[in-house]
Amino acid sequence: MTTASTDCIAVINAGSSSIKFSVHVLPGLALAFKGRIENLYRGATRFSAQDADGATVGEQRWPEALDHHAGMAFLIDFAARELDGYRVRAVGHRIVHGGVDYSGPQRLDEAVLERLERLVPLAPLHLPHNLAPVRALMALAPGLPQVGCFDTAFHTAQPALARAFALPPAITDLGIRRYGFHGLSYEHIAATLPLHDPALQDARVVAAHLGNGASMCAMRGGRSMASTMGFTAVDGLPMGTRCGALDPGVVIYLIEEQGMSVAGVQRLMYQESGLLGVSGLSSDMRVLEASSDPRAQLAIDLLVYRIGRELGSLAASIQGLDALVFSGGIGENSARLRAAVCRDAAWLGVELDPAANAANPAGVARISTAGSRVSVWLVPAEEERMIARHTYELLEAA
Ligand code: ADP
Repeated sequence: MTTASTDCIAVINAGSSSIKFSVHVLPGLALAFKGRIENLYRGATRFSAQDADGATVGEQRWPEALDHHAGMAFLIDFAARELDGYRVRAVGHRIVHGGVDYSGPQRLDEAVLERLERLVPLAPLHLPHNLAPVRALMALAPGLPQVGCFDTAFHTAQPALARAFALPPAITDLGIRRYGFHGLSYEHIAATLPLHDPALQDARVVAAHLGNGASMCAMRGGRSMASTMGFTAVDGLPMGTRCGALDPGVVIYLIEEQGMSVAGVQRLMYQESGLLGVSGLSSDMRVLEASSDPRAQLAIDLLVYRIGRELGSLAASIQGLDALVFSGGIGENSARLRAAVCRDAAWLGVELDPAANAANPAGVARISTAGSRVSVWLVPAEEERMIARHTYELLEAA
């Protein structure tokens, strides 16, 4: 493939209520634009986009709620205007689930899309939204290469034991196993850490990706060994609105004894629990940290407690701990939460440097003391850049 100076890769990350996008210039993949459409379906939808310097290049608000289709149509129109002079060589998509078939990035065509559509029951709240823009672009620009990058792919390297439920083979054969998610974020962390400390190349690392969705991953030698998320992205840590790990008996009790519908239980687990459910106030960590309501503190305490327990479990899965990494909106910005987690992890040899932690550094930074047996890192999540890189590499290899 030949590259003109304005050739670029576009990345689309379509979630249940938002579409994030970014444009990366070849060959170095420097960011040219990024933006997002938010509040799809929920109310007044809004859009904003910035250039590489953070200057606003587009802003729009609608009085009504847009759906994904209308959102994509607007984005394509915006790109046609704003990307004048750029040539989009390929589009990379974040796709939550690749099932057992896809252990790496995949060029998307009709046959692959059909296979992915069969996985929708495994991720009903995310996958249809990930695939909708692929279909829309296939119709609008049939010749444009599209690449799928899967949140599950990084975890396909896990040992079989880490992926197994204690269920009969006939059930496992239905695809009911632990998959793990946030793989693009962990892959980025695994690739980034050794660049900052070569001693971490073969290290035992636990990374916490703490955003609206939250999970933790144990890695050894840059390979995923275990994850808190399992068959679906509701397992593991409490999240913004998801409950995290729940005794499965609770689900049966709610349906059988409390007469709740399956849809009602699903709504409870995905949309009404976690930080929002416990606090009764908000799913937003900033709101909880600013609140004096004891329920807000309880929600934060519960998150910190569960992170601590999962950290012990994940450290056991890799027989020790050399580095602990924080990422995602909460992990990158909440010095208070990092301090609480590290305080509880002192027994593992974690010693936070309070000044480095409080400084809330903007890029990759070590925030533990020089003498800490376990180094503690802050690594900003860069899933979009990872997708751009995969997409470019696949295009180059073609
Ligand atoms: P997503 O999973 O949707 O990509 P993000 O990674 O953007 O989410 O993380 C969103 C979370 O990060 C929210 O809970 C938000 O409150 C939290 N967050 C963002 N900035 C801060 C901050 N300065 N202090 C504490 N929490 C923050």
